[in-house]
Order: sequence, then C-alpha cells, then structure tokens
Amino acid sequence: MSSEWDVVVIGAGPAGYVAAIRCAQLGLKTVCVDEWLNLNNESSLGGTCLNVGCIPSKALLESSYMYHQAKVNFAEHGIIAPSVELDIKAMQARRKKVVHELTQGVLALFKTNKVELIHGHAKITAVNMVEVSSRETQEVMHELTTANIIIATGSSSVHLQQLELVEGYILDSSGALELDTVPERLGIVGAGAIGLEVGSIWSRLGSKVVLLEAMHEFLPMTDSKLARLLKRSLTKQSLDIRLDTRMVSAEIKDKQVHVVYESKTGEHKEVFDKLVVAVGRKPNSDRLFGSEGLGIERDERCFIMVDENCQTSVPSIYAIGDVIGPPMLAHKGSEEGIMVAEHIAGNYIEVNYDLIPSVIYTHPEIAWVGKTEDECKAAGLNFKVGSFPLTASGRARTMDDTEGVVKIIADSESDSILGVHILSAQASELIAQAVLMMEMQATAEDIALTMFAHPTLSESLHEAALSVHGRAIHIKN
Ligand code: FAD
Ligand code: NAD
Repeated sequence: MSSEWDVVVIGAGPAGYVAAIRCAQLGLKTVCVDEWLNLNNESSLGGTCLNVGCIPSKALLESSYMYHQAKVNFAEHGIIAPSVELDIKAMQARRKKVVHELTQGVLALFKTNKVELIHGHAKITAVNMVEVSSRETQEVMHELTTANIIIATGSSSVHLQQLELVEGYILDSSGALELDTVPERLGIVGAGAIGLEVGSIWSRLGSKVVLLEAMHEFLPMTDSKLARLLKRSLTKQSLDIRLDTRMVSAEIKDKQVHVVYESKTGEHKEVFDKLVVAVGRKPNSDRLFGSEGLGIERDERCFIMVDENCQTSVPSIYAIGDVIGPPMLAHKGSEEGIMVAEHIAGNYIEVNYDLIPSVIYTHPEIAWVGKTEDECKAAGLNFKVGSFPLTASGRARTMDDTEGVVKIIADSESDSILGVHILSAQASELIAQAVLMMEMQATAEDIALTMFAHPTLSESLHEAALSVHGRAIHIKN
C-alpha cells in the first residue's frame, strides 16, 4: 500500500513518539513506524525506555527498596514486621503492569493526536521514501512517500565476543530485569548505570552481587568525591565492585557460569548463577538504509552524524535519540524530538546540550548537571565550591536517610553556577531545581536569597548555595 506524508518517524521510543506527537500537534501529517515486539509477540510502543529500560528498572528498584526497608529498617521506626516475605512473581507482575499501562498510554496519545501508527520494519530507500516490511515474513507492506524523515531507531546492548549471551545464564539488561527467582550469586560485567541499578535491585532482594568493571576509576563522568562516597555506600550494601578487571572467558558448567577474569593481581575465577553483561549500548543504524545508504554519514561507532538541528547530511532526514550517540538518555531524545518537529514546522528552538541532567538510581541516588570540579580545572576556570552534607539536613534525619552531599560549583567572578552534583535520597528530583537554576542563569547568590520550605531535602541546595560564599547556617563554613 502506498501513501503520502509530511513526516515519517522511524521508532516509537521516547525520542520518536515525542517527535511524532509534536509533529502532529503542529499540523503535520505524521506516521510513526515501529517494530518492537514484547515477549508475547505483541507490538508495544515506547521503545527501550518503556519496555526494557527506564520504566521496568525503576519499577523493580522501587519494589526492591521497599522490601529491603521492610526487612532491615522498619524496626528502627518502631514498626515490627517479623515475617517480611518476598513474592518475586507478584513483584514482576507489578513491573509488567506498569510497563503495559505506559505503553498503552503512548498508543492512546497517538490516537488523540492523530499520529498514524504502522507496525513493521522501516527501511529508507530514497530521500523521500520509506519501505515498511513485516518483521516476520519480510514482505513489503507499505511504501511511504514523505517530505521529511525522522530516524529515532535507538540502540541495543553491546555484546562482548568472549561473552555470548546464553539463555537463562548469560543475560543482557532485559534478561536481568525478567528473572523470576533471586540468583544466589549474580555477576555483572560493567559497573555503569545499568550495572549499578540492576546490581542494586538483586542485591536488595538477596543476591550476592559482584561487579566486574574494566575501568580503573569508578563512575569517571561524575564528581570524583561523590563517586567515592557512592562506592563506599554501595560496598556497605554488599555490592562487591571490582575495578580494573578484564574478562577472559565465561563457560556454563553444572548449571552455573564459570568466569575467568584478570586484574592487576593476576587471573581470577568466580562462579555465578547468572551473569549480566552491561557494557554499553550501540546504535540501531545498520538495517535502516537501502543498499547505497543515501550518503548519510555515520561515525566509526555507527552513530548517525547530525548538525545542531539534528539534520543528517541529507537535510530532509533528521536523526534523534540514542542513534546519534551519547548521552543515551530518554529525556535527551525527547527534547531532540520536539526540536526537530518545530524545525520541520518552520519554527526554531534549541536543545541546550550543556544542561542535560544525569541520574543513577542507586540508593542514595547520584545526579548531576553541568561541569565537575575536574572539568572546571581542565577548562582553566576560577571557581568556588559550596557543599552541604545530608547529615545536617533536618528532613534527611526525619527520613533516617542522611547519606550524601549537595555540591554547587560557581564561577569566582560572575557567581554563575557551573555545575551541581548531588548524592542523596531523591537526588533525581532535586536535580531538576539545579537544571532550572542554571537554565535561568541564576547565580549562587540568587539561590542563597531564595526561600525554601522547611523541612525539605531541597534546603540542602539552599545551604550549598550559602556555603559558596561561606554563609551556610547549619554547618561550619
Ligand atoms: P529506543 O527507546 O531504543 O527506541 C527505538 C525504537 O525504534 C524501538 O521501539 C525499536 O524497536 C524501533 N526501531 C529500531 N529500528 C527500527 C526500524 N528499522 N523500523 C522500525 N522500528 C525500528 N535513560 C534515562 O534517561 N533514564 C533511565 O532511568 C534509563 N534507564 C535505563 C535502563 C536500562 C536497563 C536501559 C537499557 C536503558 C535505560 N535508559 C535510561 C536509556 C533509555 O532507555 C534510552 O536512552 C532511550 O530509550 C532512547 O530512546 P530512543 O527513542 O532514542 O530509542
Ligand atoms: P555505561 O556506559 O553506563 O556503563 C558501561 C560500563 O561497562 C562502563 O563503566 C565501562 O567501563 C564498562 N565496560 C565496558 N566494557 C567492559 C568490559 N569488557 N569489561 C568490564 N567492563 C566493561 O553503559 P550501560 O550501563 O550499559 O548503560 C547503557 C546506556 O543506557 C548508558 O549510556 C546510560 O546512559 C543509559 N542508562 C541510563 C540510566 C539512567 O539514566 N539512570 C540507567 C541505565 C542505562
């Protein structure tokens, strides 16, 4: 079947579905093509984020945290719950329900906004032509002629040569979120965002978790002091994080995964019930183009190259989200989707790539925006740092959750905020205030002069801003 469109969006993850909705809101005739199938072989919108990423991982982080609280911390609050038990099947059923409701929500939004949806595999055969084939039969079902194409095909887990996935034993992040029993010993290769979140879930539920990380430094992209504090906290929570390691082999023997890895001290062996590989993600850009590739440029890692408007080397073809490279974050892709929709409609907005918030949902959570101290030093900037430990926060004390620190880095001359780094409970929520401050070009003094409700964790941002100028009230300056 052939049809004509203003915009064809390929991919219904957080980049593509947001782009499609905004295009339709702007009056553009829009179709979104998506090939995702869930484990029941049903089409399911929302891409990696809703189906196997942000949402299911946070659902399980929430449940596992509650379980751990009930088991370990309730007594401190005077709540006696002598027989807290785990029903992992119910926990996983709740996770699936949350995912289902949200994916159905995207479907409803498509209907309300009049975005046409086609299930199938899209291939760009000419600058104005997209062919859609059945994933099952490969038969071509639709030929879409279009003025604009938005590529939002996302990313997939990187696989390691010496660590082929083996069903039930060597898993990627999707497999790690699907387990219906708690592994006694869980190995995780990679101590990045996924490794730490997946490790936190299963460790809270009772697994002995070992993370094998190749890098010498723990979370090198974060503030080094906060990273040190987080590593110490996770170690106390029994996550065994081993840095500077190199995987040699993994073999399934007697229903267990036998791993050999190297570190500075030589070769080591470990036996796990399950092994998760979480070593990054690669772009879905390979099965996307007709034979000649239309001249669309990709970098050496196959990420599609774009300019500041997310236009590829073919101006009517845009690319957004994970497929154009790091940071691979849902909110970054969504904002690019909105920017591109506006651009196609003849409007102009920008994505501020300097102010992308990042969060890792461990406990405490770590969140940051802007520059780290090391980056400020490397850039030759003169800066001042204000920080406030959560131990001094009244609200943190009432929550019995005093681990962490809030840090604000401000330019010595202009007092403008260069970076905010937060290690605390609910850092994911607190960081939004920092992004707003920086987006509105507030100075540390502006924050210091702002009133914050008491008692809140947000007061820590206020005190950190006061501390930039040596005026904090609740700590020694
Ligand atoms: P995707 O979400 O990958 O969606 C791409 C869509 O395109 C998919 O539906 C795919 O089937 C479809 N597609 C691909 N090729 C074709 C084709 N040729 N034809 C038709 N359809 C096609 N990010 C955060 O910001 N916060 C988090 O807390 C977070 N947690 C995560 C946890 C895990 C375990 C994982 C794996 C990722 C997490 N991420 C998180 C990252 C986040 O999921 C991604 O950054 C985000 O999903 C990228 O969105 P996207 O729209 O670019 O691509
Ligand atoms: P990552 O880049 O965050 O971490 C991968 C880790 O694996 C790195 O520390 C890397 O040094 C290590 N590694 C690479 N090769 C290795 C090897 N051979 N042996 C041992 N370690 C090795 O990637 P990820 O954790 O796979 O997550 C993928 C993407 O998904 C990230 O870009 C992230 O932004 C996104 N994500 C975000 C969130 C969040 O926002 N909360 C959560 C999960 C995932």
